[in-house]
Amino acid sequence: MEFYNTLGRSKQEFKPIKEKEVGFYACGPTVYHYAHIGNLRSYIFMDLLNKTLELNGFKVNLVMNITDVGHLTDDADDGEDKMEKGARREKKTVWDIADYYTDAFMDDIKKLNIKKPGVICKATDHIDDQINMVKEIEAKGFTYKTSDGVYFDTSRLKEYGELMPNFNPGDLEGGKRVSLGDKKHVTDFALWKFSKPGEKRQMEWDSPWGRGFPGWHIECTAMGCAFLGKKFDIHTGGIDHITVHHTNELAQARASFGDKHANYWLHNGHVLVNNEKMAKSSGKFIKISDLEGKGFSPLDYRYLTLQTHYRKRLNFTWESLESARSARLKLKNKLSGLKQEVYEGGVSNNEYYDSFLSALNDDLNTSKALAVLQELIDSSIEGSVKKFLVLEFDKVLGLGLGEEDVVPEDVYELGLKREKARELKNYEESDKLRKEIRKLGFEILDKKEGFEIKKL
Ligand SMILES: [Zn+2]
Repeated sequence: MEFYNTLGRSKQEFKPIKEKEVGFYACGPTVYHYAHIGNLRSYIFMDLLNKTLELNGFKVNLVMNITDVGHLTDDADDGEDKMEKGARREKKTVWDIADYYTDAFMDDIKKLNIKKPGVICKATDHIDDQINMVKEIEAKGFTYKTSDGVYFDTSRLKEYGELMPNFNPGDLEGGKRVSLGDKKHVTDFALWKFSKPGEKRQMEWDSPWGRGFPGWHIECTAMGCAFLGKKFDIHTGGIDHITVHHTNELAQARASFGDKHANYWLHNGHVLVNNEKMAKSSGKFIKISDLEGKGFSPLDYRYLTLQTHYRKRLNFTWESLESARSARLKLKNKLSGLKQEVYEGGVSNNEYYDSFLSALNDDLNTSKALAVLQELIDSSIEGSVKKFLVLEFDKVLGLGLGEEDVVPEDVYELGLKREKARELKNYEESDKLRKEIRKLGFEILDKKEGFEIKKL
């Protein structure tokens, strides 16, 4: 198996610390709002990696955190706590906000066929672990105190910035354009923030330095240690984590116990919508419920993400989701047309299985894996073997190919024909096709993007 390691910036052979076990930490969501489809791409990626490791016979100890405190609106040390801001917006307590959006997130990942990580840990359940780690970093001489918190002195760590491409150590001095506040260097970051004088935060704790709350980065290093130890195999997150969050996690680990924490740091690319960044204000903030509202299955989105390599930027359009749906439905329909007999021969020495596995083991080449799936579906191999293999592949791909609710292929083809007729404004033909579909026991529903077929 080979993965692209951001630490070292190269594709590297995967060598686990233990022979048949993998320690895997995935940076989880900040639960102040619904997740958008760009956030969720990270967890589809996490899931593919998890299942690929399992397919290779590893027992995977997957830990994912839930950030419910300390993540400020600008990712660095300025701005408001996203959680407190969310609570004010919705006139609820921070704790209610955290519970509500954690549940919403868990629903989303379930709909995307993402296997729940074995450990899901909340930052607020591990405040002592975080305080203890800050104490260790302090004891090693990497901290200083300002009027608003305890900071990590990045100039004291010679490896600081090792995850970043083209990092220039001179950046430590800070530019004139960046407001330093009380910080000594622009890259220094908060380990512990004090509650503001006179301010009553909903989430605050006592610490040796004063009442307040942990900085955002310390939770991951502390919980990673608590559940996986000081050294584990894989750490994942979105590409936006490279320059701040993961750089600082790595610095904390180096300062506290002198090691790099995870051997492999893997990052997935952004999702753009019509080539623009997703932002709540622009109306391009797309959630799972928005996909469902337009008649799509969340698994159509999963399929769409598999067509692009996880490290590449993915440009989402409704048209591309429409094609993904069409491709996924075709696969489902072909599968449902195969014989129901059960095949019990296993997967050894099967060329399709071998190509599928080697595609995934090559830094999760999912578009290649989908191509192998397509070849298999189109091949002339015996129906029961084909069905068995498709379902084996789908254990990793997670496209729900074996699930019921299948629209027969001929009905689906009629739907496509009708769509064409509508595009050509041939309403007579389109009506005729609607009636034909109805005769076969299905109803066609027009959606803003494409159509949906439901059983009557
Ligand atoms: Zn993290």
